[in-house]
Amino acid sequence: MTTETTHSATSQQARDIIAKVSTGVLIDGTWTESASGARFNVINPATEEVIATVADGGPEDAQRAIAAAGRVQKEWAQTPPRTRSEILRRAYDLVMERQEELALVMTTEMGKPLAEARGEVAYAAEFFRWFSEEAVRIGGDVTTTGDGKNRIFVSKEPVGPCVLITPWNFPLAMGTRKIGPAIAAGCTIVFKPANLTPLSSLALADILLEAGLPAGVLNVVCTTKASSVVTPWMTSGIARKISFTGSTEVGVKLLEQAAQHVMRSSMELGGNAPFIVFDDADIDRALDGAVAAKMRNMGEACTAANRIYVQRGIAEEFGRRLAARLTALKVGDGAEPGIEVGPLVEEKALAKVQELVNDAVSKGATVIGGGSALDRPGYFYSPTVLTNVSPTADIMSQEIFGPVAPIVPFTTEEEVIKLANDTPYGLASYVFTQDIDRAFRVGDALEAGMIGLNSGIVSNPAAPFGGVKASGLGREGARIGIDEFLEYKFMALPRG
Ligand code: NAD
Repeated sequence: MTTETTHSATSQQARDIIAKVSTGVLIDGTWTESASGARFNVINPATEEVIATVADGGPEDAQRAIAAAGRVQKEWAQTPPRTRSEILRRAYDLVMERQEELALVMTTEMGKPLAEARGEVAYAAEFFRWFSEEAVRIGGDVTTTGDGKNRIFVSKEPVGPCVLITPWNFPLAMGTRKIGPAIAAGCTIVFKPANLTPLSSLALADILLEAGLPAGVLNVVCTTKASSVVTPWMTSGIARKISFTGSTEVGVKLLEQAAQHVMRSSMELGGNAPFIVFDDADIDRALDGAVAAKMRNMGEACTAANRIYVQRGIAEEFGRRLAARLTALKVGDGAEPGIEVGPLVEEKALAKVQELVNDAVSKGATVIGGGSALDRPGYFYSPTVLTNVSPTADIMSQEIFGPVAPIVPFTTEEEVIKLANDTPYGLASYVFTQDIDRAFRVGDALEAGMIGLNSGIVSNPAAPFGGVKASGLGREGARIGIDEFLEYKFMALPRG
């Protein structure tokens, strides 16, 4: 493995760009300090340096934010769809114009290599362009009842003020995937980004204001005490919808709160993706897929390949070649040129990955590459392949969220389907085979919302992202993504 030997500091260029980002709470179109005046630190996980401080919001800020969202909801719902569309389109253009700057902000607060951050900026922007196109096509329906006696006029209305909550792993795209359709539908927003990575979201809020979003439509409160801000929103009676991306554990708590006010709920939760390679697969393609599905975002993705099942005849070769590929990746500060694997997001994440590897090894797994944290500042873990992993190892049932690939051999198609579905989660799955009948048969049998067939990447704004079972409710992106923010209403009129 190539490990950077230089222990870089956060560059002046990154600091200069970050210094331009608004770091207050955004309420009713105005940036202010939080009511308490408190601020929290944002850390560069590659260097452990403080790169910014951000206003630490609390209940008072939360109340003001939801009041503003409630106050302007009616007016915003009546804006011409073309106006909403054009704001989103301008925001798309601005995000793309600032792709380099936004990528550097993201890498500096979250750790992913610059090349991946640029990719996320483009992916994030695409949700604005996509939903700018959907805003003017909301439409409705006119039909006649079966007995021919009534006409039914179906229209769609914005659901109302929305609570949007996002995680740290895709700091820009998780926000635009919710904000884009909410704006397109005519909903107002209270938004709480993750406190580990607030800067990308705050920079995005600056851009939306610059694109012409009216005051009060988007209100942003960052905080180190999530429930002190989110609970007042959920209990306000003003918010009509919650859209959350994060862990299943927090999602369940929010669903309980949502039930009290019967709020519409979209939940993008955790995953435990199986990655299945049959012995009739194109091995090179499967290896490319495994590197993408495992190493994207250092493995810190809900869609990451968590359990790699390889048919027995090729398991040894696949493991050996995957270890060669992973250990050749260049690990280091993602802001430096050529880096392919950045640090994990925080020290706790590093400790968790090490614990999962130790547990697997204590239950018989063999480490064939990597297997330890790097001895340098920052939260770096070496890309790792494990073989002979016991089904009882914690790594098989918990989200790894790190660059560790556990490989388990299997014998039959029936056996691997059973293994793959033996989890409460059902987000992404991957199947590699050259047999088209088998690809569809296995795809049909897998309990998951998204299946990569001979592909290690499933996310795309044109596709309905989401999961089944404990992985969530609802879908984001695609044509139906806007429906999550719309209510249907019909008027029935007897035929004269
Ligand atoms: P998390 O659940 O800890 O936090 C997510 C967000 O919820 C953060 O903004 C956090 O501050 C907030 N939060 C935490 N406790 C809260 C509470 N009691 N009330 C209200 N809000 C609260 O998750 P994370 O560690 O930030 O992100 C990783 C998780 O997100 C993983 O489980 C991953 O699989 C999941 N994820 C899912 C998707 C998807 O689309 N399905 C995408 C990315 C990440």
